[in-house]
Amino acid sequence: MSDARAVTAPRLYVSDALAAGARVSFGAAQAHYLRDVMRLAPGAAVRLFNGRDGAWLAEIETLAKGRGTAVAREAVQPQRAEPDVWLLFAPIRGPRQDMLVEKAVELGVAALQPVLTERTQVRRVNAERIAAQAVEAAEQCERLSLPTVRPLADLSAVLAAWPAERRLWYGDERGDGASALAAFSACGGGGPHAILVGPEGGFSPRELDVLASASFSSGVGLGPRILRAETAAIAALTLWQAVLGDGGLPPGR
Ligand code: SAH
Repeated sequence: MSDARAVTAPRLYVSDALAAGARVSFGAAQAHYLRDVMRLAPGAAVRLFNGRDGAWLAEIETLAKGRGTAVAREAVQPQRAEPDVWLLFAPIRGPRQDMLVEKAVELGVAALQPVLTERTQVRRVNAERIAAQAVEAAEQCERLSLPTVRPLADLSAVLAAWPAERRLWYGDERGDGASALAAFSACGGGGPHAILVGPEGGFSPRELDVLASASFSSGVGLGPRILRAETAAIAALTLWQAVLGDGGLPPGR
């Protein structure tokens, strides 16, 4: 079964284990996508990943309204370690946040952590929507893992419980930090990292003091223009992946 289908068949995330002959189930949304959107039937090929067992070519076994199954046939990509970078962001409105989530997943974040800051105006997030967007973006961009989506939490609480070995880079639009490129290049790599971008209203002076004085965090600049939060997240993640992550690997590896 190893042929063009290994690169063209629809790619879906499943939670079940993947191994030769393993049977996996599809949820209602996936069954709808395969049956009604892609117009596939039993026997058709799909590609599956679960964040643990690499990518597999599989064959649809049953497909009905609201459910379906497939049988894994052949491993097509081994699971590999992925860069360990989290994104902390203050919730923003509608389409901008959709974009932030989608692009962050494409850029390989290991976890998404929405945080409430003093000037965060949007005080709620739809965690289910973020999780669904993360699955969709991971399926589309050919990641082998899903990012963890953490529940909304106060920035102060997240910082108070911060794992000391994880370096935190926060976007400092006042220009007090080194450039992100210089800071990432000078940090010597190694270990887990996180990026924090503030809300539309920016961080409060008090938050900036806390961030500046914490041993694990450093402010970084992203150029002379004030970027919207989603742009700042994309720019910082792109630079981080280029310097410290897997941004240097060719596409598809
Ligand atoms: N209203 C604020 C801007 C907030 S922009 C002001 O005018 O000061 C939203 C977030 O994006 C900021 O909190 C910061 O984390 C990040 N950001 C935006 N532009 C940036 C830049 N040039 N350098 C570093 N971070 C930036």
